[in-house]
Amino acid sequence: MADTILRFRPHHLLCMLTYKGNGYSKSFVENFDLLIERMNTSSVTLEICKGPDDICAPRLCDPTDATCHCHDADLLKTDDQALADLGTLPSLENISYGSTIPLTRELIRDLRTAYAKNTIRTACQGCEWKEFCDQIKDDQFQETKLI
Ligand code: SF4
Repeated sequence: MADTILRFRPHHLLCMLTYKGNGYSKSFVENFDLLIERMNTSSVTLEICKGPDDICAPRLCDPTDATCHCHDADLLKTDDQALADLGTLPSLENISYGSTIPLTRELIRDLRTAYAKNTIRTACQGCEWKEFCDQIKDDQFQETKLI
């Protein structure tokens, strides 16, 4: 059976590692839960996209609305930073917008190892959730939803 393709903006490859069921709204969390369940139970390929992705979707009134937060220049810059950091990992050295990446347990493990060393977290620096995610990292990702 073909993999499920999920569109992810680069910094969400970090956010999926620390996700414990918290988020901006009920619909955002419900959608994120659904995506994580798919990632845990079926073959998933991540397609790296620019701008709003499959996680952002419920937060947007209209995916074509260029005024919403998900289109902010700061957030797009955050994605560029995340992409540059992710590209330092041997398994992701050719990552770019448009890349398709099979989501394997090995990749999740490698990402969490790098995240714990703070080597791929430039994108986290200005994030409102940083302290929250720092604690999750310090707790070695206990009770996070992505397995
Ligand atoms: S600090 Fe922000 S950008 Fe970094 S993983 Fe957490 S929610 Fe994502």
